[in-house]
Amino acid sequence: MRVLYKKELFSFIERLKESYRVVAPVKKDAEYVFDDIEDAEDVILEYPTTILSAKEFFFPQKEVILEYDLGETIQLKSTPEVEEICLIGLHPCDIHALLRFDEAYLTFKPDPFYEARRKNSLIIGVYCTKPNEFCFCGSMGTDTIKEGYDLMLIDDGEKYGVEIGSKEGEELVNSINLFKDEEEIKKPRLKGFVREVDTDKLPEIMMKEYDNKIWNYFGERCLGCGKCVFICPTCYCYNVVEDTDIEFNSGKRERFWDGCVLTDFAAVAGGGNFRADRTSRLKQRILHKFSYYPERYGNFGCTGCGRCINVCPSDIDCTRIINMIRG
Ligand code: SF4
Ligand code: SF4
Ligand code: SF4
Repeated sequence: MRVLYKKELFSFIERLKESYRVVAPVKKDAEYVFDDIEDAEDVILEYPTTILSAKEFFFPQKEVILEYDLGETIQLKSTPEVEEICLIGLHPCDIHALLRFDEAYLTFKPDPFYEARRKNSLIIGVYCTKPNEFCFCGSMGTDTIKEGYDLMLIDDGEKYGVEIGSKEGEELVNSINLFKDEEEIKKPRLKGFVREVDTDKLPEIMMKEYDNKIWNYFGERCLGCGKCVFICPTCYCYNVVEDTDIEFNSGKRERFWDGCVLTDFAAVAGGGNFRADRTSRLKQRILHKFSYYPERYGNFGCTGCGRCINVCPSDIDCTRIINMIRG
């Protein structure tokens, strides 16, 4: 196995910065966020979780997807602004989240904006060593990872073991003389989860309990604030608005994050709303993650990162909902 000594990490990041926009976890007040790296010494690879996941670097909160000008010659512009980006320090659960995004955005009709950004990205993950009180990745099978990364770092005291996951990762390691050949380093096995769920037959069980009163108990507490879906690394829904000049000669089309727990998400022309009550909206969020998504793609749409539990102002906890429904 190749090894990178921690004292060489900053030199490695500086080398990456010569070719990539580098993004990695940094401290922000008492928490951690993924941010652009100016100074390699700001990077922190031993962290519990970040406030937001890395999805915003592939699927920005807001972006223009079409600009048009219907003047003498019609001009249309629908090309993403893309740069070579290297994301360092993603935990296995957040790499799984990108794989879920790939399923949704690249499987049937690829989203050209997302696709271009994914193609121009390098992922250097790091195995998490300690779950926080909200994580349940151990139950979701996302505490470890076999694909979706170029390099994966395994913390081993004064050094990192380096797993190579792609041709690009191999070329990178071979092109920088900071990596040594050493003995195999074992991946950590995460222990001490506060939250757990049983995923056996979960999609079917959740659907069978579609009319269970437990949904109302939680639905009545939901404020519809949207924090859970915006913070979720696998939530990919968006809305689109048109912004045209008064004569409809030029304008732009913009998309921005949207989410099923928001009141107007399923609103339609004429004042109708397919999910007019809070319970049906909350139910959609949970069932999408644990029933509809696995039915379509074969994987759960939740990585067990615990972020939605941490941020919910009403203490709505998807593991509690699942455990109460399972009885
Ligand atoms: S964060 Fe909590 S209160 Fe806000 S929409 Fe989500 S479940 Fe409802
Ligand atoms: S549903 Fe919650 S726990 Fe699951 S991936 Fe989304 S934010 Fe993380
Ligand atoms: S339907 Fe809801 S839970 Fe599913 S991806 Fe969209 S916002 Fe997230």
